[in-house]
Amino acid sequence: MRTLLMGPPGAGKGTQAVLLSKALAAPHISTGDMFRKAVEEGTALGLEAQGFMDAGQLVPDEVTVGIVRERLMEPDCLKGFLLDGFPRTIPQAEALDRILESVQAPLDIVLNIAAGREELMARITGRRMCHVCGASFHVLFNPPAKEGVCDQCGGELYQRDDDGAETVGKRLDVYERQTRPLLDWYAKQGLVADIDGNQSVEDVAGEIMNAIHGRRS
Ligand code: ADP
Ligand code: ADP
Ligand code: ZN
Repeated sequence: MRTLLMGPPGAGKGTQAVLLSKALAAPHISTGDMFRKAVEEGTALGLEAQGFMDAGQLVPDEVTVGIVRERLMEPDCLKGFLLDGFPRTIPQAEALDRILESVQAPLDIVLNIAAGREELMARITGRRMCHVCGASFHVLFNPPAKEGVCDQCGGELYQRDDDGAETVGKRLDVYERQTRPLLDWYAKQGLVADIDGNQSVEDVAGEIMNAIHGRRS
Protein backbone atom coordinates (compact mmCIF):
# COMPACT_ATOMS: atom_id res chain seq x y z
CA MET A 1 0.00 0.00 0.00
CA ARG A 2 1.43 3.39 -1.02
CA THR A 3 -0.26 5.99 1.14
CA LEU A 4 -0.11 9.76 1.55
CA LEU A 5 -1.21 11.49 4.73
CA MET A 6 -2.33 15.05 4.12
CA GLY A 7 -3.84 17.73 6.29
CA PRO A 8 -2.91 21.02 7.93
CA PRO A 9 -0.34 21.28 10.72
CA GLY A 10 -1.81 19.76 13.87
CA ALA A 11 -4.45 17.65 12.12
CA GLY A 12 -2.94 14.51 13.62
CA LYS A 13 -0.89 13.17 10.70
CA GLY A 14 2.10 12.16 12.82
CA THR A 15 -0.07 10.57 15.50
CA GLN A 16 -2.00 8.51 12.93
CA ALA A 17 1.13 7.69 10.96
CA VAL A 18 2.68 5.87 13.90
CA LEU A 19 -0.44 3.67 14.27
CA LEU A 20 -0.90 3.13 10.53
CA SER A 21 2.72 2.34 9.90
CA LYS A 22 2.40 -0.54 12.37
CA ALA A 23 -0.93 -1.72 10.95
CA LEU A 24 0.34 -1.72 7.35
CA ALA A 25 3.92 -2.75 8.18
CA ALA A 26 5.03 0.11 5.95
CA PRO A 27 7.84 2.58 6.63
CA HIS A 28 6.72 5.98 7.94
CA ILE A 29 8.43 8.74 5.99
CA SER A 30 8.00 12.19 7.52
CA THR A 31 9.87 15.07 5.91
CA GLY A 32 9.34 17.12 9.09
CA ASP A 33 11.04 14.38 11.17
CA MET A 34 13.86 14.12 8.63
CA PHE A 35 14.47 17.88 8.74
CA ARG A 36 14.33 17.99 12.54
CA LYS A 37 16.86 15.17 12.78
CA ALA A 38 19.16 17.00 10.37
CA VAL A 39 18.84 20.20 12.44
CA GLU A 40 19.65 18.32 15.66
CA GLU A 41 22.66 16.67 14.07
CA GLY A 42 23.84 19.97 12.60
CA THR A 43 24.26 18.54 9.07
CA ALA A 44 24.41 20.70 5.93
CA LEU A 45 20.77 19.79 5.25
CA GLY A 46 19.83 20.88 8.76
CA LEU A 47 21.58 24.22 8.40
CA GLU A 48 19.78 24.81 5.13
CA ALA A 49 16.35 23.85 6.48
CA GLN A 50 16.41 25.50 9.90
CA GLY A 51 15.78 29.11 8.86
CA PHE A 52 12.73 28.16 6.82
CA MET A 53 11.33 25.97 9.59
CA ASP A 54 11.79 28.62 12.28
CA ALA A 55 10.02 31.14 10.05
CA GLY A 56 7.09 28.78 9.49
CA GLN A 57 7.88 28.53 5.80
CA LEU A 58 8.45 25.58 3.54
CA VAL A 59 11.93 24.30 2.82
CA PRO A 60 12.64 24.78 -0.92
CA ASP A 61 11.26 22.11 -3.26
CA GLU A 62 14.63 20.99 -4.71
CA VAL A 63 15.97 20.21 -1.25
CA THR A 64 12.81 18.47 -0.08
CA VAL A 65 12.32 16.42 -3.24
CA GLY A 66 15.95 15.34 -3.09
CA ILE A 67 15.70 13.78 0.36
CA VAL A 68 12.39 12.06 -0.42
CA ARG A 69 13.69 10.63 -3.69
CA GLU A 70 16.67 9.13 -1.89
CA ARG A 71 14.50 7.69 0.86
CA LEU A 72 11.99 6.12 -1.55
CA MET A 73 14.81 4.33 -3.36
CA GLU A 74 15.71 2.40 -0.20
CA PRO A 75 14.66 -1.26 -0.36
CA ASP A 76 12.18 -1.11 2.54
CA CYS A 77 9.91 1.08 0.39
CA LEU A 78 9.52 -1.55 -2.33
CA LYS A 79 6.42 -3.06 -0.72
CA GLY A 80 4.82 0.24 0.18
CA PHE A 81 5.27 3.34 2.29
CA LEU A 82 3.45 5.97 4.27
CA LEU A 83 4.36 9.53 3.36
CA ASP A 84 3.56 12.12 6.04
CA GLY A 85 3.89 15.82 5.24
CA PHE A 86 5.07 15.36 1.66
CA PRO A 87 4.18 16.59 -0.92
CA ARG A 88 3.21 20.09 0.21
CA THR A 89 3.40 21.97 -3.10
CA ILE A 90 2.34 21.25 -6.69
CA PRO A 91 5.98 20.95 -7.88
CA GLN A 92 6.61 18.40 -5.11
CA ALA A 93 3.54 16.42 -6.21
CA GLU A 94 4.74 16.47 -9.82
CA ALA A 95 8.17 15.31 -8.75
CA LEU A 96 6.64 12.50 -6.70
CA ASP A 97 4.56 11.36 -9.67
CA ARG A 98 7.72 11.18 -11.79
CA ILE A 99 9.62 9.25 -9.15
CA LEU A 100 6.79 6.73 -8.74
CA GLU A 101 6.25 6.42 -12.51
CA SER A 102 9.91 5.58 -12.96
CA VAL A 103 9.47 2.56 -10.69
CA GLN A 104 5.89 1.82 -11.84
CA ALA A 105 4.51 2.19 -8.34
CA PRO A 106 1.55 4.59 -8.32
CA LEU A 107 -0.10 5.90 -5.16
CA ASP A 108 -3.04 3.92 -3.78
CA ILE A 109 -4.70 6.47 -1.52
CA VAL A 110 -4.44 10.02 -0.18
CA LEU A 111 -5.85 10.33 3.34
CA ASN A 112 -6.94 13.91 3.95
CA ILE A 113 -7.34 14.60 7.66
CA ALA A 114 -9.35 17.77 8.31
CA ALA A 115 -9.85 19.82 11.49
CA GLY A 116 -10.95 23.41 12.20
CA ARG A 117 -8.48 26.24 12.76
CA GLU A 118 -9.25 26.71 16.48
CA GLU A 119 -8.75 23.02 17.13
CA LEU A 120 -5.50 23.03 15.13
CA MET A 121 -4.20 25.98 17.15
CA ALA A 122 -5.04 24.26 20.44
CA ARG A 123 -3.44 21.01 19.32
CA ILE A 124 -0.22 22.56 18.08
CA THR A 125 0.39 24.96 20.94
CA GLY A 126 -0.04 22.08 23.44
CA ARG A 127 2.06 19.61 21.47
CA ARG A 128 5.10 18.02 23.07
CA MET A 129 7.46 15.86 21.05
CA CYS A 130 10.02 13.22 21.97
CA HIS A 131 13.64 14.16 21.31
CA VAL A 132 14.52 10.53 20.71
CA CYS A 133 11.74 8.88 18.69
CA GLY A 134 9.65 11.84 17.46
CA ALA A 135 6.39 10.59 19.04
CA SER A 136 3.98 13.44 19.73
CA PHE A 137 1.89 14.06 22.83
CA HIS A 138 -0.38 16.84 24.04
CA VAL A 139 -0.40 18.43 27.48
CA LEU A 140 -4.21 18.12 27.68
CA PHE A 141 -5.53 15.92 24.85
CA ASN A 142 -2.93 13.18 24.88
CA PRO A 143 -0.71 13.51 27.95
CA PRO A 144 2.11 11.03 28.56
CA ALA A 145 1.82 8.80 31.64
CA LYS A 146 4.69 10.72 33.25
CA GLU A 147 5.00 14.43 32.58
CA GLY A 148 7.83 15.32 30.21
CA VAL A 149 8.68 11.68 29.44
CA CYS A 150 7.90 9.71 26.27
CA ASP A 151 5.59 6.69 26.75
CA GLN A 152 7.15 4.93 23.77
CA CYS A 153 10.84 5.15 24.60
CA GLY A 154 11.40 7.10 27.83
CA GLY A 155 12.94 10.01 25.91
CA GLU A 156 12.63 13.63 27.05
CA LEU A 157 9.71 15.64 25.65
CA TYR A 158 10.15 19.17 24.29
CA GLN A 159 8.11 21.90 22.63
CA ARG A 160 9.10 22.58 19.03
CA ASP A 161 10.48 26.06 18.30
CA ASP A 162 7.94 26.44 15.50
CA ASP A 163 4.95 25.46 17.68
CA GLY A 164 4.54 28.89 19.31
CA ALA A 165 1.26 30.72 18.56
CA GLU A 166 2.82 33.26 16.18
CA THR A 167 4.59 30.80 13.89
CA VAL A 168 1.61 28.45 13.93
CA GLY A 169 -0.60 31.11 12.32
CA LYS A 170 1.94 31.50 9.53
CA ARG A 171 2.16 27.76 8.99
CA LEU A 172 -1.62 27.45 8.73
CA ASP A 173 -1.60 30.24 6.12
CA VAL A 174 1.19 28.53 4.19
CA TYR A 175 -0.89 25.35 4.22
CA GLU A 176 -3.94 27.14 2.79
CA ARG A 177 -1.93 28.83 0.06
CA GLN A 178 0.55 26.19 -1.01
CA THR A 179 -0.70 22.80 0.13
CA ARG A 180 -4.50 22.78 0.04
CA PRO A 181 -4.52 23.09 -3.79
CA LEU A 182 -2.98 19.61 -3.91
CA LEU A 183 -6.26 18.12 -2.78
CA ASP A 184 -7.85 19.07 -6.12
CA TRP A 185 -4.88 17.61 -7.91
CA TYR A 186 -5.31 14.26 -6.15
CA ALA A 187 -9.12 14.37 -6.24
CA LYS A 188 -8.90 14.50 -10.05
CA GLN A 189 -6.94 11.25 -9.85
CA GLY A 190 -9.66 9.76 -7.65
CA LEU A 191 -7.26 9.19 -4.77
CA VAL A 192 -8.62 11.33 -1.93
CA ALA A 193 -10.37 9.87 1.11
CA ASP A 194 -11.64 12.57 3.49
CA ILE A 195 -11.14 11.79 7.16
CA ASP A 196 -12.82 13.73 9.98
CA GLY A 197 -9.94 14.72 12.26
CA ASN A 198 -12.26 16.24 14.91
CA GLN A 199 -12.66 12.92 16.72
CA SER A 200 -10.66 10.96 19.25
CA VAL A 201 -7.36 9.48 18.09
CA GLU A 202 -8.96 6.01 18.11
CA ASP A 203 -11.97 7.08 16.04
CA VAL A 204 -9.78 8.82 13.47
CA ALA A 205 -7.68 5.66 13.22
CA GLY A 206 -10.86 3.61 12.70
CA GLU A 207 -12.06 5.86 9.89
CA ILE A 208 -8.67 5.59 8.24
CA MET A 209 -8.68 1.79 8.39
CA ASN A 210 -12.17 1.73 6.86
CA ALA A 211 -11.04 3.96 4.01
CA ILE A 212 -8.03 1.73 3.37
CA HIS A 213 -10.06 -1.48 3.41
CA GLY A 214 -12.56 0.14 1.04
CA ARG A 215 -9.73 0.95 -1.35
CA ARG A 216 -8.22 -2.51 -1.22
CA SER A 217 -11.41 -4.42 -1.99
P1 ADP B 1 0.53 16.75 12.59
O1 ADP B 1 1.59 15.69 12.36
O2 ADP B 1 -0.58 16.68 11.61
O3 ADP B 1 1.11 18.12 12.68
P2 ADP B 1 0.30 15.59 15.30
O4 ADP B 1 0.01 14.15 15.06
O5 ADP B 1 1.65 15.94 15.76
O6 ADP B 1 -0.13 16.46 14.00
O7 ADP B 1 -0.79 16.13 16.35
C1 ADP B 1 -0.80 17.47 16.77
C2 ADP B 1 -1.13 17.54 18.27
O8 ADP B 1 -2.50 17.16 18.47
C3 ADP B 1 -0.30 16.62 19.14
O9 ADP B 1 -0.10 17.28 20.37
C4 ADP B 1 -1.20 15.39 19.30
O10 ADP B 1 -0.94 14.73 20.53
C5 ADP B 1 -2.58 15.99 19.29
N1 ADP B 1 -3.60 15.14 18.63
C6 ADP B 1 -3.43 14.31 17.57
N2 ADP B 1 -4.58 13.72 17.22
C7 ADP B 1 -5.53 14.19 18.09
C8 ADP B 1 -6.95 13.96 18.25
N3 ADP B 1 -7.63 13.13 17.43
N4 ADP B 1 -7.57 14.63 19.23
C9 ADP B 1 -6.90 15.49 20.05
N5 ADP B 1 -5.58 15.75 19.95
C10 ADP B 1 -4.90 15.10 18.97
P1 ADP C 1 3.40 19.96 10.80
O1 ADP C 1 2.80 18.66 10.46
O2 ADP C 1 3.13 20.41 12.20
O3 ADP C 1 3.16 21.04 9.81
P2 ADP C 1 6.02 18.97 9.99
O4 ADP C 1 6.78 18.28 11.04
O5 ADP C 1 5.41 18.16 8.92
O6 ADP C 1 4.97 19.87 10.76
O7 ADP C 1 6.95 20.07 9.28
C1 ADP C 1 7.70 20.99 10.03
C2 ADP C 1 8.40 21.96 9.08
O8 ADP C 1 9.32 21.23 8.24
C3 ADP C 1 7.48 22.69 8.11
O9 ADP C 1 6.91 23.86 8.68
C4 ADP C 1 8.47 23.03 6.98
O10 ADP C 1 9.31 24.12 7.31
C5 ADP C 1 9.33 21.77 6.93
N1 ADP C 1 8.75 20.77 5.99
C6 ADP C 1 8.24 19.55 6.31
N2 ADP C 1 7.80 18.92 5.21
C7 ADP C 1 8.03 19.76 4.16
C8 ADP C 1 7.78 19.69 2.76
N3 ADP C 1 7.19 18.62 2.18
N4 ADP C 1 8.16 20.75 2.00
C9 ADP C 1 8.76 21.82 2.53
N5 ADP C 1 9.00 21.95 3.84
C10 ADP C 1 8.64 20.93 4.66
ZN1 ZN D 1 10.21 8.67 22.39
